[in-house]
Amino acid sequence: MSETIFSRIVRGEIPCHKVYEDEHVLAFLDVNPIAPGHTLVIPKEPAVTLDQLSDGAAGGIGRALPRICRAVTKAVGATAYNVLQNNGADAHQLVEHVHFHVIPHLGGQGLGLGWKPSPLDAEQGAELGRKIARLL
Ligand code: AMP
Repeated sequence: MSETIFSRIVRGEIPCHKVYEDEHVLAFLDVNPIAPGHTLVIPKEPAVTLDQLSDGAAGGIGRALPRICRAVTKAVGATAYNVLQNNGADAHQLVEHVHFHVIPHLGGQGLGLGWKPSPLDAEQGAELGRKIARLL
């Protein structure tokens, strides 16, 4: 659990452009948007990474996120968008409080991806799939 700028926004100590709030969730405009409508959706619970989130907070996020995506895209007239969620500094997480970026793709603005995919080996895939499943 962490004390971050987002905890302070949740407590109302720092202003934000709020677009949604309920018992578990707060959503507000990103202060440095990469596209018009770039919105952050956060649990009020101060978990650092997604895997640390309680079931209650996760349920709240799951319920609110699709509604917020609909409103954001409608507000800016986007038909495509990305939901990005970074965990850990190596994965580009700057603020250590779980947050989902809702990023409209609009007029050339939006999230750029640098994926370099390669085909999954069938044998390794089967083994890894079983290993992950055992850990769930
Ligand atoms: P990440 O790299 O996933 O941790 O992204 C953190 C995001 O938080 C960045 O897009 C910042 O622009 C955004 N951010 C940081 N401080 C604030 C703030 N006070 N209000 C709104 N957005 C913020």
